[in-house]
Amino acid sequence: MENLRTVFVYGAGISGQGVSQVLADRGDRVILYNDDEKKLDPAFLEGFTQKGGRVVFGEDPEPYLKESSLFIISPGIPFTTDVVKKARELNMEIIGEAEEASRLYKGKWVGITGTNGKTTTTTLVGRMLETLPVPTTVAGNIGFALSKELEHMGPESVVAAELSSFQLEGTTTFRPQIALIVNITPDHFERHGNMENYIAAKAKIFANQTPDDVLILNYDNENTRKLAPKAKSRVYFFSTEKVLSEGACVEDGWFVLALDGRRDRICKVSDLKIFGAHNEQNVLGAILCAHFAGVTNVNMAKVLKAFEGVEHRLEYVTTIKGVPYYNDSKATNTDSAVKALEAFKDGHVVLLAGGHDKMTGLDDFMQMCAKKTDALILLGEARQRFCEAAKKNHVKNIIMIDGSFEDAVNKAYSIAKPPEVVLLSPACSSYDMFANFPERGRVFKKLVRALAAKAEEEKA
Ligand code: ADP
Repeated sequence: MENLRTVFVYGAGISGQGVSQVLADRGDRVILYNDDEKKLDPAFLEGFTQKGGRVVFGEDPEPYLKESSLFIISPGIPFTTDVVKKARELNMEIIGEAEEASRLYKGKWVGITGTNGKTTTTTLVGRMLETLPVPTTVAGNIGFALSKELEHMGPESVVAAELSSFQLEGTTTFRPQIALIVNITPDHFERHGNMENYIAAKAKIFANQTPDDVLILNYDNENTRKLAPKAKSRVYFFSTEKVLSEGACVEDGWFVLALDGRRDRICKVSDLKIFGAHNEQNVLGAILCAHFAGVTNVNMAKVLKAFEGVEHRLEYVTTIKGVPYYNDSKATNTDSAVKALEAFKDGHVVLLAGGHDKMTGLDDFMQMCAKKTDALILLGEARQRFCEAAKKNHVKNIIMIDGSFEDAVNKAYSIAKPPEVVLLSPACSSYDMFANFPERGRVFKKLVRALAAKAEEEKA
């Protein structure tokens, strides 16, 4: 039978199950391996085992590795585990799930990475691609495995794929026709070790590009700007700070696409429903991606004017007693929280921050807090380290919450007065108190809405 090979899939999470199913459907012999026992989706398990797939938990991997010709690693697993070491000793080809997806999918890729702004930009590009007369989709980082999402997409289709550094780390031949790096700022040192390795992982998005391909970089972010000379593809920059002769930029309050001597005005910055300079970067990146994918300027403008943003990203919740509340639970690192604070041009922010500490530097973030916050409410595991950094950077009105998340929200409610805004932008991941950032955001919104209802009752 054509394609008959044995594939060892390491990690039985969403990616692992997804790629296992796709490969089993294609007729490969698949071994899905996980270090410890894991409850699998029953529907997956039934279909997978029917097609001859085997699930192995925690056994000695060696015999299974020996019978396999390909090793596919899930993005959540670092390359340093014993099972990967064993695979290396056996000289196996080791690739990530995204790489396998790129080998199977024959359509066009718009690959989008960056420390922050990936989901927002990918969503925008996805909406713009929908205006093309071919099948299009959005895939990647969150949700299902790439290979599964792209399983039924034909060669004429286009995908906007959000790619994390973890996914890119496992690529070898992946070559998106259009690649975008929105920005690179410190994050995920727990996995990549240092900034250099982290940048190298991100740079893999264009490693296999040729002069037929396009790479889009953020001119305002030094870490991405400096990557340009390394690319073999055609590089286009975008900037919110500088008027560029070529690329995309903001000029006289307009988003401008400047290419081949033309300067097309797409729409006004004030036409957007989303706000903040960081979102202007996302828009400019999206405009260039969409342009090279064949989207018209008119269609881009329509999408931009209608776009209301993505949940948990500077999401407006409600206003209570004249104080607006914003949910930015997705701000899981300091740079995204800095950008959120910057978006409130007049300051007067009552900020809720803290959670599971990622141990990156805090000075830039705290300097921004010193400028923008009227009160800094600190919670979660990170609160002590954050408090020390806040004091060092002269942040005023630091409030420590030793209790629950709800206590922190109640505290914000009790102190915030107009013209202040209450902002949840934690600069931390959520794992100390929640399953993930969406749960943290949803709990925040629920608590805020309950406070709004209470305030209404009191008024009545
Ligand atoms: P990602 O998928 O890369 O995590 P998101 O679009 O989900 O990006 O946004 C994550 C967080 O970063 C949110 O808090 C958001 O407000 C902030 N953010 C969005 N775009 C940018 C950007 N271009 N630069 C910095 N922060 C950003």
